[in-house]
Amino acid sequence: MAEVVLKNVSKVYPNGVRAVNNINLHIKDKEFLVLVGPSGCGKSTILRMIAGLEEVSSGEIYIGERLVNNVPPKDRNIAMVFQNYALYPHMTVRQNLAFGLKLHKHPPEVIEERIKKTAEILGIFDLLDRKPRALSGGQRQRAALGRAIVRQPLVFLFDEPLSNLDAKFRVQMRAEIKKLHQQLKTTMIYVTHDQVEAMTMGERIAVIKAGTIQQISTPAFLYHNPVNKFVAGFIGSPSMNFFEGRVVEEKDKLYFQGEGIVLEVARMHTDKLRKVKGKDLILGIRPENIHLAQQAISSASSEVKGCIVRARLEIIEMMGAVTYLSFTLGGVNFNARVESSEMEGKENRPRIGEEIDLVFNSEKCHYFEKESEQAIL
Ligand code: ADP
Repeated sequence: MAEVVLKNVSKVYPNGVRAVNNINLHIKDKEFLVLVGPSGCGKSTILRMIAGLEEVSSGEIYIGERLVNNVPPKDRNIAMVFQNYALYPHMTVRQNLAFGLKLHKHPPEVIEERIKKTAEILGIFDLLDRKPRALSGGQRQRAALGRAIVRQPLVFLFDEPLSNLDAKFRVQMRAEIKKLHQQLKTTMIYVTHDQVEAMTMGERIAVIKAGTIQQISTPAFLYHNPVNKFVAGFIGSPSMNFFEGRVVEEKDKLYFQGEGIVLEVARMHTDKLRKVKGKDLILGIRPENIHLAQQAISSASSEVKGCIVRARLEIIEMMGAVTYLSFTLGGVNFNARVESSEMEGKENRPRIGEEIDLVFNSEKCHYFEKESEQAIL
């Protein structure tokens, strides 16, 4: 059991690329922390520095109480799981699991016992005597997980372990890794570019852009309180919609005026927005907070406080329980997400090419400064 602490850690590669820029990170004992961000943002570099596979240019890394900057990877008591499994092809799964333990000179009975326990946890008894080429992608990834588990490390490091699996199996493995975390109660650090993976797996998520941490928090907090436009747009699928505009005041009421839209600012936001009156702003609203006006008005349970916006429906995507609608308004594209039942069997159901009245839930709007892209708090 161990916490992992990064203090002012930077990484500049020999070619001059500053991959990681002065990050501070405190991963708690037994925590499942996800590092998420677009390709090239530096998340693998962070993980590889924790593993000792990449030297730190400046700053300090602690595993447990121990400063590990100069400790070789094999002595850091970590286990890493990669996207490409990295199993030895000429060895059976059993031999793959035993390999690291033999290197560390564990006695045979300990090795046998640990393999047995690990096979139990992962349900891979029947795979132990197969070689990797006789395994499916998912089975290989389970074997790779097994090789990490037998080591009983202080910290597990995962580098995009599910990227090679097909969509259905990815969902299953996601759940299995989470279950594993609950069972083993070991600190886990998990790198992915996939925000859905981050949201479903992480106890906390660190969102990274261009080598810096933008925000660290629980999935729900990040979703509801993004500190800037990048986090707002990165977390959530389909992404948050953005509109440029300004706040104006008329007869004691504040309005956001943007490209084709005028929204009355919800009372809960007026204090903070009065301070940035006239400045260039960006309004953000998630697809699920845009409703069909027809529905919002007729539904008895509707308590949606909002403003009517009229936009042209361009695309309808039926996803099952929900339907995604794409609209254009004054040259801006945006998406709404509605219950599919709202689209079914009604004479006046929305049709492609029509101008449709929508309700923007003004209480759910986010506001950012255009220049700095920071949330207005
Ligand atoms: P991510 O895992 O988020 O995709 P990486 O940590 O792999 O990002 O890379 C971060 C940045 O560092 C990228 O610009 C990448 O091109 C660069 N980089 C990664 N590894 C090396 C290397 N060995 N030498 C030089 N530049 C590298």
